[in-house]
Amino acid sequence: MRQVRIENSFASWRVAARSLLAAGLAPDELIWNDGTGEVLEWASALDQPDEAGEVATVRVPEAFVSLAERVACHRDSQKWNLLYRLLYRQSIGGESGLMQNAVDDDVYLANRMRQQVGRDLHRMHAFVRFRAVEGDQQRPHYIAWHRPDHYIVPLAAPFFRDRFRSMLWSILTPDESVHWDGSKLVFGPGAPRSAAPADDELESLWRTYYGNIFNPARINPKVMTQNVPRRYWEAMPEMADIDALLEAAPKRLEAMMMANKQTPPGCENTGSAADFIPSGALSLTILREAAAGCRGCELYCHATQTVFGEGPTSSGVMFIGEQPGDNEDRAGRPFVGPAGQLLDEVLEEVGIDRSKLYLTNAVKHFKFEPRGTRRIHAKPTAREIHACEPWLEAEAKLIQPQVMVCLGATAGQALFGPAFRITKQRGQPLKHPWSAWTMATFHPSALLRIPDPSRRDEARAQFTSDLKQVAQAIARL
Ligand code: URA
Ligand code: SF4
Repeated sequence: MRQVRIENSFASWRVAARSLLAAGLAPDELIWNDGTGEVLEWASALDQPDEAGEVATVRVPEAFVSLAERVACHRDSQKWNLLYRLLYRQSIGGESGLMQNAVDDDVYLANRMRQQVGRDLHRMHAFVRFRAVEGDQQRPHYIAWHRPDHYIVPLAAPFFRDRFRSMLWSILTPDESVHWDGSKLVFGPGAPRSAAPADDELESLWRTYYGNIFNPARINPKVMTQNVPRRYWEAMPEMADIDALLEAAPKRLEAMMMANKQTPPGCENTGSAADFIPSGALSLTILREAAAGCRGCELYCHATQTVFGEGPTSSGVMFIGEQPGDNEDRAGRPFVGPAGQLLDEVLEEVGIDRSKLYLTNAVKHFKFEPRGTRRIHAKPTAREIHACEPWLEAEAKLIQPQVMVCLGATAGQALFGPAFRITKQRGQPLKHPWSAWTMATFHPSALLRIPDPSRRDEARAQFTSDLKQVAQAIARL
């Protein structure tokens, strides 16, 4: 037995392997020691391969060389013996077609090792996150820490060099490190996790970005741990949030799958506004800002903006419409179009001051069908109403209305469920936990759509009389 001492690199193995092959040494006569494994106590001698000796002209297929380069990065130190065996069998053993025999034990093992290294390399390309630290000459230096499975830093380095050529950066791993000084790659020793900065602006930027693109469908926990093994998580800032996200994920995923049945690509949504309601103390401003980023249903995808409720939070009166229309969608404010005008008229008639109302909608995004250049109002589905309801509830919690008015069936359904019918329930006091006094009436847009003038007048009179009751309820406050 001869012990062959090499460095843990393909280049070092290659030099040794050539001279050993030239000397005709068989694989089972050799023990390879690359310094990464335990010391082999029974080894009798530590021989340097005789580099001065005759070097055989070994002809091996190019494919074997590229395979060997990858396998040489594997963590299992059996790789050196395996590679030498393959080399020996192809040359001295005369098995020139060996590498085509995928079911051969050695070939199979080498291919598997190559695959494992390839996967590790892919993960390193994807998961390395640089954080800025102070560098020389006012140039920030970017540092990343990563824990690969295998010795892949030299393999991975060119990718980062090509991508971040103009930056100064270092990638630290427990086994080795690589540094780019702007013109060349320099390899160095490994570094502990603590050598890389833990927190900085890049991190919070990254987290914000991650929060925005977060999509529960992508965090099926099983798929997640397959693609991003737990041990990488410590170096990925966004993973600090992952446990909270994972906890909420099954519910969100389920809701999302339901909501996404006919979702066009790019309109992914969680199925409920509940996923976007901030925790902690809420103000109208906080709610409005959060609602601006809502992806609780598909409607955000086509509309211009979220139209949130507006008005004083202290008056105790809350009016709920259906959804913003074309004008509201552009203006970003509720009831500014024709329906708003009609509402204003009737409010004035019955003596209600609009500026003292909190005015909102059951659904916060404009739903429409494009008809040429026009956008025609479309009714929100029960699912969309339900998805958006958490905003309405949050508004009600904040306003604590004493008087609450549903304008139309959609608002009524948001509060009382899909069975609610305006024709049955309008004009009478209703019981609802959010408010001491609740009433439903027509939606002003519905009045505008009645084609027959006398029927329209009749409905408007009913609408006016309902709002008179509301005025009286407000007067009693
Ligand atoms: N219709 C509504 O229900 N809400 C608006 O904001 C505008 C029209
Ligand atoms: Fe969110 Fe409501 Fe807009 Fe749907 S309609 S995206 S639930 S705010």
